[in-house]
Amino acid sequence: MTVREAPSGGQVSPSPAAAGEVTATRGAPNGWQSPVRAAAGHSVIPLVPVDRIADSSPEGCEGSVSVRRLQPGETGSGVLRDTPAGGLEGRAAGPDAAGAAAAHASAGGGHARHRHYEGVGHVHSIESCGTVDGPGLRYVLFLQGCLMRCLYCHNRDTWDLKSDRAKDMTVPDVMKQVLAYRHYLKATGGGVTATGGEPLLQYEFVRDWFMACHAHDIHTCLDTNGYALHYDEVLQALLDNTDLVMLDLKQIDPDIHKVLVGIPNTRTLAFAEHLARRGQRTRVRYVVVPGYTDDERSAHLLGRFIAPMKNVDTVEVLPYHELGAHKWALCGDEYRLKGVHPPPKETVAQICRILEGYGKAIIV
Ligand code: SF4
Repeated sequence: MTVREAPSGGQVSPSPAAAGEVTATRGAPNGWQSPVRAAAGHSVIPLVPVDRIADSSPEGCEGSVSVRRLQPGETGSGVLRDTPAGGLEGRAAGPDAAGAAAAHASAGGGHARHRHYEGVGHVHSIESCGTVDGPGLRYVLFLQGCLMRCLYCHNRDTWDLKSDRAKDMTVPDVMKQVLAYRHYLKATGGGVTATGGEPLLQYEFVRDWFMACHAHDIHTCLDTNGYALHYDEVLQALLDNTDLVMLDLKQIDPDIHKVLVGIPNTRTLAFAEHLARRGQRTRVRYVVVPGYTDDERSAHLLGRFIAPMKNVDTVEVLPYHELGAHKWALCGDEYRLKGVHPPPKETVAQICRILEGYGKAIIV
């Protein structure tokens, strides 16, 4: 996943030489009542039991109150199901949050299917010399497909698992380009980044790509929302070949997370715990969204969650911005954070102070 805007399609290639639960209320600034402020005003949302979250295991997180497994032969709507090949199928559903995820998963053609791996990646776009998706200059691959539905998504056009605008590329296709930039990437302490969309949805391809990069001693970074579907040898090999994970922790409070992201945070938190157990070097990314994540309680919840994780050395705090809003209209959707503006500097500074208090280095 990415927390910033992807190229609108195709490739940005500088020359190497240039190296359902949101309640509408009147008076709210954006036309929606913030669940955080609702909690503050009416004490309706309790503190999340972080200790209990920390105990959750990947195997134990089916992850949603609204997503259930299909029984054999069942073809009902509003469900996601694992395919025999380890993929995911989804069907359009009602207005509930998880149903929205399933609906969008199927948006590319009625009954969408998480692609079976045939040695190609489904690539939304490429940025050959990115500067904000990991250390140094980076070759950034935006992979098509995401099952989250963040209200602030800057890359609405990456959601569909299959898109006619995306391009199928093999690892040799991608490596041909990466190797052309390799000296510039290495000279700046950079490398490659897999983002999206959500790169874990194409984890076999990312594994193969990262293994090829490591064969050329190129630094690899996985920019993810942590929505891992399978904890298997593919994921293990992918993580073994990942030098840095940038994990987007959007909100620790489960209720606010569902409003902001459309699905529960169970899988993401379980993935964070998995990385901690592996000792996987991880940078947490946290987007400060006014009304949803800009309050002190949310920052403390995040701080408490990551404080014991020795593998998390840094938190990157990203103020919300509206740059990707136009893509929602292009995709025929209403941008529901219309009227929400970037948070004041003082708010961001306070979030940083709080997180720093939990012993993590901060990048803004
Ligand atoms: S909806 Fe997906 S691509 Fe968009 S910000 Fe959320 S996790 Fe990232």
